[in-house]
Amino acid sequence: MKSYLIAGNWKSNKTRSEAKDWLREFKIQQSTRINTDSSTVILCAPYTLLCFLNDEIRKRSFSLMLGAQDVSPYDNGAYTGAVNAKQIKEFAEWVIIGHSERRKFFGESDTVLFQKVEQAKVAGLRIIYCVSDEHTAIPDVDVVAYEPVWAIGTGKADTPENANTVIAAIKRKTQIQTVIYGGSVKLDNAASYLFQPDIDGVLLGGASLDAHAFAALLELIH
Ligand code: PEP
Repeated sequence: MKSYLIAGNWKSNKTRSEAKDWLREFKIQQSTRINTDSSTVILCAPYTLLCFLNDEIRKRSFSLMLGAQDVSPYDNGAYTGAVNAKQIKEFAEWVIIGHSERRKFFGESDTVLFQKVEQAKVAGLRIIYCVSDEHTAIPDVDVVAYEPVWAIGTGKADTPENANTVIAAIKRKTQIQTVIYGGSVKLDNAASYLFQPDIDGVLLGGASLDAHAFAALLELIH
């Protein structure tokens, strides 16, 4: 049976009380239905929520892993405002690196992103590395997310067939075994990606903000 990786990226959304509501709704909808043998479910939240979410997930035994959405390219030290990989590792197992919004709005280059990958690896974080196509430079990481820039948050998803072709090319190029698709995936189109032979899961932005939609989407993989 295929094993899926589903990641939600909350981006710069949610306060602590909104996160609490999300967990409450998710719990009602989801209860214990995530089969952790066949799926890995990761919630990538803002730094400010990681400590709170980590406590809640442990206390209430949610089948969710936590991820950060970025990491400092530096170790600890005089880097005002930066959150380093060791600090993240106290609360989360995963980190997204190279999201197109980091590249676009924060001017992050491949050089900086590769530094981030090194820092994350040293701290023992697992990495979801985002690329816009198979020609993007790709370091050795746990998971690659193919996310065409024009599909992110636009409602114009890539076709499942083309996403599968790009993902197969990424796998041939890198030997990375887990490659997922992201870009306007919603409940009504998710299955068509998940059932493609080379697509190992999905990265959800907008669709992860609503606990009902997120939980309903997880039902697809059972
Ligand atoms: C994303 O932020 O990685 C993403 C895929 O966003 P959306 O699902 O909203 O297109």
